[in-house]
Amino acid sequence: MKRFKDKVVVITGGSDGIGLATAKAFAAEGAHVYVTGRRKERLDAAVNEIGGATVGIQGDVSNLSDLDRLYERIQRDHGRVDVVFANAGISETAALGEIDERHFDRVFSTNVKGMVFSVQKALPLMTRGGTVILAGSVSGSKGLPGLSVYNATKAAIRSLARTWTTDLKSRGIRVNVISPGMIETPAMQTYLQNNVGAEDVLKQMTPLGRLGQAEDIANAVLFLASNESSFVAGAEFFVDGGVLAV
Ligand code: NDP
Repeated sequence: MKRFKDKVVVITGGSDGIGLATAKAFAAEGAHVYVTGRRKERLDAAVNEIGGATVGIQGDVSNLSDLDRLYERIQRDHGRVDVVFANAGISETAALGEIDERHFDRVFSTNVKGMVFSVQKALPLMTRGGTVILAGSVSGSKGLPGLSVYNATKAAIRSLARTWTTDLKSRGIRVNVISPGMIETPAMQTYLQNNVGAEDVLKQMTPLGRLGQAEDIANAVLFLASNESSFVAGAEFFVDGGVLAV
């Protein structure tokens, strides 16, 4: 029996990296998957790769009318949402002295505003309860250097999950955070290309001695979306190879 047969799953930023791997895993388990992303070509390629009944809706999570289009389409297709994986996020380095307003607004708009409204706009369709998983990061707990704005967004996400756990308790909606460590995705590859030697440093920071794969995160997201985690709420689930232990 497929674990998510006929469930309606939304994955923001599902066209690459962690979101794409998670979309594939949900589709393989029988879900109707809706993925978003800003780049049309990348999104079309991802929809092909994911297969099944996947739909791609081009859009930016920080743009409320793009989110309206996403949920209007799902309203027409299914009239409900069962799972939201609010995953779209960007990471940009800037030392404190280099942070300008555009950097601050870009990172907060995508990582916090995008997450708030991706979830808020799903609620009218979550009439039978459901699960929400927010993409956090070890960086929300660890103070990784040069990433203060990004780190702050990821700490904010933990607070959103705790608040929404109580706000939504009467509606049968569970909210949790998945917080990856260092995961080999296109975003990470760009960072490694621009920072020679960083890969070895990141591996040394990780007790398990390797970078994670997007599938490592996808497995944990499916657990948090499933009934196997039915008593887990308001939690931050670290999938980080042990980074926080040291
Ligand atoms: P990638 O950059 O590899 O993929 C990001 C995905 O999100 C792409 O599909 C991208 O498509 C989409 N996206 C980015 N910005 C927006 C936006 N404004 N609106 C809609 N879609 C958007 O990132 P990862 O897979 O590495 O990261 C996914 C999440 O996991 C992020 O929230 C990140 O902070 C978090 N994370 C990642 C870690 C890692 O090591 N990789 C570690 C800890 C946390 P497009 O560009 O076309 O919009």
